[in-house]
Order: sequence, then structure tokens, then C-alpha cells
Amino acid sequence: MVDLKGQYNDIKDEVNASIQEVIETTSFINGPKVHEFQKNLESYLGVKHVIPCANGTDALQIAMMGLGLKPGDEVITADFTFAATVEVIALLQLTPVLVDVNEDDSNINIEAVKKAITPKTKAIVPVHLFGQCANMEAIMEIAKAHNLYVIEDNAQAIGATYTYQNGEKVKAGTIGNVGATSFFPSKNLGCYGDGGAIFTNDDDLAHTIRGIVNHGMYERYHHDVVGVNSRLDSIQAAVLDAKLPLLDTYNKARKNAARKYNDAFKTIESIITPKTVNGCEGICDTCDCHVFHQYTLKLKGVDRDALVKHLSEKGIPCGVYYPIPLHRQKAYLDERYNEADFTVTNLLVKEVISLPMHTELNDEQIEFITSTIIKFING
Ligand SMILES: *Cc1c(COP(=O)(O)O)cnc(C)c1O
Repeated sequence: MVDLKGQYNDIKDEVNASIQEVIETTSFINGPKVHEFQKNLESYLGVKHVIPCANGTDALQIAMMGLGLKPGDEVITADFTFAATVEVIALLQLTPVLVDVNEDDSNINIEAVKKAITPKTKAIVPVHLFGQCANMEAIMEIAKAHNLYVIEDNAQAIGATYTYQNGEKVKAGTIGNVGATSFFPSKNLGCYGDGGAIFTNDDDLAHTIRGIVNHGMYERYHHDVVGVNSRLDSIQAAVLDAKLPLLDTYNKARKNAARKYNDAFKTIESIITPKTVNGCEGICDTCDCHVFHQYTLKLKGVDRDALVKHLSEKGIPCGVYYPIPLHRQKAYLDERYNEADFTVTNLLVKEVISLPMHTELNDEQIEFITSTIIKFING
């Protein structure tokens, strides 16, 4: 699904030098590299504060702790996402309220969010799934009307742009009160281990969060709040700092691959290619409205299990993200859920298939993957 070795070979000298520098200075924890990366990411994103942390799951958890959410507070999020999003809500003893998503972009459905609001609702967590933003303008409007916090799960959309109706563009993850991202190796900006970060434009919240990531300390050995130990290793920061200048180029390579996949499948009726809904029609070069963390097709009337098996026999990796909706996962069952409210996720889990997507995909590989799929479908 990804080609981390191919990508490393191209940037070996920069990455090795950057890692070597950390080893020579032995500043393994909170070293200058972490600070340097933080500053560079702040300027790339156009956000006032980046707080690096240990992984994307921690980033979400710490964001919620920073906002002071309390047990029993209801937090609305998408039913169709990676479990980490709902896991941290439950872990903090907040009440997850899962809602359906849209058919076109697989992102949280605005009408479903509105319907799920109760007097206990305190926050909305939109997930920018597969590389494009949820409808943030509508979400921010709802949040304002009901006095709710917005925490963006930006683990799959770093570098993506969001376009407001007035044409203004901002980076994904910098719109809500706080954003969280992951630097897991296979993400669009990945390190060589675990890593994550929290973004915010709110000075007070940034201060609170900086203490939380470091055992609730604002002054050495004074613990004002309950915190955690969640740090980005200096060595991981060194990798990320070497890769950040290439993020736009990487995202462009993903878009190019997506465009080629789209072209190959455009006449195949049983394949629905991913739709870009924010900003542009199709895939454009002028902005990054979709950065294709995943290239996910919807299959109509195709035996998905048989296709997965066929692809595996041909040596083509693929993935099903996600095969079970969160509202039907044992850990997150809730009496309030009604199957009739999850028609889209219930369908998506049966239809989706994600194809290899990374920065090193070449034309020959795309040709082989697409022709294998088309031959299978045409029998
Ligand atoms: C990867 C991911 C996370 C978690 O990130 P980790 O760094 O693996 O903890 C959270 N949410 C979504 C949507 C993700 O894809």
C-alpha cells in the first residue's frame, strides 16, 4: 500500500544528516530539532501554535483534555473513521455520539450532526477522511449556534487546503478550536516511528496543552493539572523536519496517481471513483483540496471479497477502510443508536476498497493495478 523504502532512498542524505545531528548533540528529548520542526510546521500551516506529541491518538486525547471536557459530556463524531477517534472520547469517559456520513466524500453528515445535538453536547469531532476536509463551514456555524468546541481529526489530511465559500483558503486542521494529527509512517507526512501534533490559534489553550503533554507541569515540579507524558522524539522530529519541505511535492504525487486511477476507471460503471467536494471539480493542480491519504473506490454490484482475493493473487495490495462501522463495534455499542440512522456507513463498509497510494507509484504499476481490476470486473 505504501513504499517507504523507495521514498527513503530519495531523501537518504538529508534524513541521515538530520538524524545524525540529533545523535551527536544527544538532545534526545525536547531537543532543538523538536522546536525547529514545530516552528517550521507552524509557518507551513499558518497556525499560531503547534504542540508536538507522541502520536495522533494522544493528540486527540490531549486536545479534549485541554478543552476541559468532563465525564458525561457528549461528543459527536463520524461513524466511519479509524477507531482512535472514538476511543479517546470513551477513554476520557465522555460520551461518544456516532453519526452517519455523506455518500460523496464519506465525511460527517451535517444534518446528522444537527439531529444528534442535545443539551449535553459539548464538542464535534469532524474527521477529514481519506485526505479531504469535512464541511467545516457548516460545522463551525453549528458549533457557534450551540456553543460547542470543534476538534479536527486531521490525521489523514495534513497539507490539504479548505476553501470557504468566499474563496478564502486555509490549511486543514487549523479551522476548529484545535486540530490533531498523526505522523504514523504511512500518513502523508510520516516519521520513522510514532509521532503526532496538536494545532491551535488559541494562546490560552496552547499554554494549557503544553503543560498537559508534560505531566501537567507549567513550572518545574509544580503539577497544576493532571497531565500525560506525550513527547515527539527528537529523532522523529529530525525525520519530519527533513520531510516537511517535501510535503507539497508528496501530496502532488498522490494527486497525480489519483488522477491516473480516475482516468483508467472512468468508463467502468460498477466503479465509483473518489469525489472531491470542497473547492474544485475533479483533481486540480492549483490547490490541495484533496491530498489522497487513501485512494478509495466504491464498488457497485462487484463481489469485493473475490476482487480482494484476486488482487492478492496478483501481488497487488489493497485495503478495506473500514469494514465495520464504529456504532456496531462491541466497545462502542449504545442503546441510542438506530440502524436506520446509519444507512450510508452501513453501505460504505460493504462497498469500499482502497488501492495502493503513495509518493512512489509509477505509471507501470498504476497500469497493472487498474487493468487487473478492470479485467476482473469485465470477466
Ligand atoms: C492514524 C489515525 C489516527 C491515530 O493516529 P496514531 O498516530 O496512529 O495514533 C487517528 N485518527 C485517524 C482518522 C487516523 O487515520
